[in-house]
Amino acid sequence: MFCVKCGKEEKTYDSLCATCYLQRNRFTNLDEQLELQQCAHCDDYLMDKKWVHYEDELDAVYDHVTANLLVREDALVRDLDLEVQEIDRKSYRVLVYVTVAYEDLEVIEESETIVRIKRESCPKCNKIHGNYYESIVQVRPTGKRFSDNEREELLQRAMSHIENASRDSRDAFMAKAVEAHSGYDFYISTIALGKTLARDLVSTYGADYKESASLHGRKDGVDIYRVTYLVRLPPYRVRDIIELNDKLYLIRSTGPQMARLRELKHGDNLSISNDRLRNVNVIGTKDDVVEAVVLGEEKRELQLMHPRSFATIEIRKPQGFEREGDAVKVFLYNDEIYIIGN
Ligand SMILES: [Zn+2]
Ligand SMILES: [Zn+2]
Repeated sequence: MFCVKCGKEEKTYDSLCATCYLQRNRFTNLDEQLELQQCAHCDDYLMDKKWVHYEDELDAVYDHVTANLLVREDALVRDLDLEVQEIDRKSYRVLVYVTVAYEDLEVIEESETIVRIKRESCPKCNKIHGNYYESIVQVRPTGKRFSDNEREELLQRAMSHIENASRDSRDAFMAKAVEAHSGYDFYISTIALGKTLARDLVSTYGADYKESASLHGRKDGVDIYRVTYLVRLPPYRVRDIIELNDKLYLIRSTGPQMARLRELKHGDNLSISNDRLRNVNVIGTKDDVVEAVVLGEEKRELQLMHPRSFATIEIRKPQGFEREGDAVKVFLYNDEIYIIGN
């Protein structure tokens, strides 16, 4: 075959020899200027309509240029090499070397572009700053009980729940957390996330929960609802001591349906549904547990020094209890002493 341009006799491409064909044709194209949008609040970058987090801005620039490089459909990219040079804080010169294969030809094409970082606000940050929320999780204690520690723990728990969810979804955020009625109101971005948070708290604390929806407005002909989840914590927490039918129990764990308890005198373990414990009387917390020195031990009994009167007392060991140290943890109540554990 002859090249119609230079007349050389060799394999032709569109009637041109390889040299003439490559002179007239380019396989890649790149705009001389590219804009990369970055959120001024969360620092995420807009990549192909999605906001993405990058540890290193150079990686974002690299990906952005790669995504904007156009390659002729009948050609194949064999290799891609980018050289990113920082011009100033927010702009980069990027040199691109693409190794392209077309039929049996291979060629390296060079391009250059300037990438400018444009700072603005992403839709998620717009929502957060606009106090956007679709659900409220109201957490309330029962009775007057709610220590500062517990309140802090609750806040941390809620925040880490939202943080975990936000790793998978940019729609997941907490607009604000407000102290209210001895508890908290958590304002949550979506209804679904408010629900999972409420369920997490219900399951952790063995709490009671109710939901209610209210019409908030209309958008595009559809009613918009906000949902409120009322999570009422039970009066007890894990390691509290409660009185039930004239017996004392230690709360061993709490769950969505049941709490696991241990009867203190005999050591029997049992599960009781949360419903039956709603109005239970909490008579002690872990802060009320004290140590008693062990003076002697027999198969079924322990001799202890009473922590208040220092008198020697004998107490029957609860079943399954095995002493480990020179003292045991006890709870004093109505002139009686109860073994809590080691
Ligand atoms: Zn030619
Ligand atoms: Zn943002």
